[in-house]
Amino acid sequence: MKRLLLIDRDGTLIIEPPIDFQVDSLQKLEFYPKVIGNLGKIARELPYELVIVTNQDGLGTESFPEENFWTPHHKMLSTFANEGIAFRDVLIDKSLPHENAPTRKPRTGLLTPYLKSGEYDFARSFVIGDRMTDMELAYNIGARGILIHNPIHELSFENPAVENVIELITTDWEEVYMFLAIEEQAYAKQYRNASIVRKTLETQIQIDLELEGQGKYEINTGLDFLDHMIEQFAKHARLNLKIEAQGDLHIDEHHTVEDVGIALGEAFAKALGNKRGIERYGFFILPMDEAQAQVAIDFSGRSYLVWQVDFQRERVGDVPTELFEHFFKSFADHSKSTLHIKAEGKNAHHIIEAIFKGWAKACKLACARTEFTDLPTTKGVL
Ligand SMILES: [Mg+2]
Repeated sequence: MKRLLLIDRDGTLIIEPPIDFQVDSLQKLEFYPKVIGNLGKIARELPYELVIVTNQDGLGTESFPEENFWTPHHKMLSTFANEGIAFRDVLIDKSLPHENAPTRKPRTGLLTPYLKSGEYDFARSFVIGDRMTDMELAYNIGARGILIHNPIHELSFENPAVENVIELITTDWEEVYMFLAIEEQAYAKQYRNASIVRKTLETQIQIDLELEGQGKYEINTGLDFLDHMIEQFAKHARLNLKIEAQGDLHIDEHHTVEDVGIALGEAFAKALGNKRGIERYGFFILPMDEAQAQVAIDFSGRSYLVWQVDFQRERVGDVPTELFEHFFKSFADHSKSTLHIKAEGKNAHHIIEAIFKGWAKACKLACARTEFTDLPTTKGVL
């Protein structure tokens, strides 16, 4: 899921004029110290989408004409853009405090499309701002807060729940960058994820894999039966898996099945990383009515497939049965694993489903983490 940095403008990105709190001329535009360099590093190195969320009291009224606002605002945005800092969105509330508009921070109205889209992980998103209302916004959307402390705003912790969302109080943007970078490193250690984009003249595939998942999936390969099988895999391996594949199905199913296997293998190799501390081996015997599948896997760094499966039918659903061997060969080759699959039964659907579920359980065991941090080999390399 995508993550957001919801960044306040005045007092956070640029200095808030202490008299009238309005940046309404170029003369009043002054960047917060060290914000450009450090926000640039955040934009380049960390996987956040940047959004400005700002209250501009009475913007468009006589006391704050729009034209006076936009000139310094655009200058600010172009200065950031010149340093590679692009904002996905600039959300402005123009109401006055007494109007109690649902869009005025700390209320969440401006963020409704983001909250409703279901694409964003708010628990791993941050609000960065210089007022307690920014921190209240973080609390209201289930995000966390970074407070750019300005001594002229009193830090009033009336609500302990709001205080709890504040992870950092600072006056230094370098600290903001360091905090987010360390946070990212700790997360990467804890959660093994991989994204793979594979484009050839035959197929285009995007895979997002989270090994520490819950069994959530979104599989679209263009082949319904393959989707159904990979959904079983994600569910029973308890990993989160998203696959979008567009293949040359007008020719036949071959390239799509093969390349999904390749890309999924690459995703496993990437997510497992250096393989320190993993179980490495996994095996499972899985029954499904009259069928039974035995799957054993070793993330050994060497690829090998043993396939002892006979089908009595040429196709199951929209996939030729001969392609399943090819799928698992592609997976073994590109995940650099040794994979043994044996299965027997009468019903081809049962046989292949037992294989995918057995493969799921074996992968789950092999990818599991132990209490050790060394490589599970005496050879020194996996
Ligand atoms: Mg502010």
